[in-house]
Amino acid sequence: MQIVKNIERMQKIADKLREEKKIIGFVPTMGYLHSGHLNLVKLAKEKSDIVVMSIYVNPTQFGPNEDFSKYPRNFERDEKLAKEEGVDIIFYPESMYKDNLTFVNVENITKLLCGESRPTHFRGVATIVSKLFNIVKPHLAVFGQKDAQQVAVIQKMIDDLNFDIKLVLSPIIREKDGLAISSRNVNLNEKDRKNATILVESLRFIKRQIDEGNTNLKELIEQAKKMIELTPNAKLDYYSVVSYPEIRKIDKLEKKTLIALAVYFGKVRLIDNMIIGE
Ligand code: AMP
Repeated sequence: MQIVKNIERMQKIADKLREEKKIIGFVPTMGYLHSGHLNLVKLAKEKSDIVVMSIYVNPTQFGPNEDFSKYPRNFERDEKLAKEEGVDIIFYPESMYKDNLTFVNVENITKLLCGESRPTHFRGVATIVSKLFNIVKPHLAVFGQKDAQQVAVIQKMIDDLNFDIKLVLSPIIREKDGLAISSRNVNLNEKDRKNATILVESLRFIKRQIDEGNTNLKELIEQAKKMIELTPNAKLDYYSVVSYPEIRKIDKLEKKTLIALAVYFGKVRLIDNMIIGE
């Protein structure tokens, strides 16, 4: 496994791989790897000859009072896990911005959900992913449904800006007790970690109700919100129902409906979601 830190060098390697007709699969991450990330690698390996993973905690997708400095980092650990999983190249840049004046803004679908509570977040995501696409030059890139709105944003950006890249989707990988795996989970104390399963439990409650024929979404969301409110130390950021991938507010089930929530436990912000009608 190769570790590349320099942007121009990564571009040269990508050019050479393309000349050799190798299919490049790309897994962008912020590191502190877990089995969610490793599942993306597995999918990338199935569909490509060379897997490039980027590890970069992107400052522009964090707001001024968010956890950029507290975001967990451990490159040695990541290196070992990536190697074991069969990653061929880790792109590990020190910095990706110098005097950037260009940003990528995907409109409308970034207004609700995480875009509402983190107004500059998706501009940071779309910008860094565009930059990484131009550096790694992949044929395909794998993203996780854990960040369902991000997937919608990246797919729209790919379409609108004509990136010749196929987006491959991974399902949400969960702990045994159902909690969606996230690098941020290590920042939860023991009690909060236990109580954090309320996110997936509330989603599963909604799913059961819908399967039983109760499709009054407004009422179901109210009940699910109560479940969060009754959980010690949990503070609801949002609990929303939107059409997918358009991210439009809806009050009835659509062909594809995204139910998504974000919850704070202390300073740790967790998200989870489910898509109905896949
Ligand atoms: P991150 O390092 O948190 O920015 O995540 C990098 C990629 O891994 C994104 O495409 C995420 O959606 C994906 N990812 C993170 N956690 C999970 C999970 N539990 N299941 C599936 N994909 C995930």
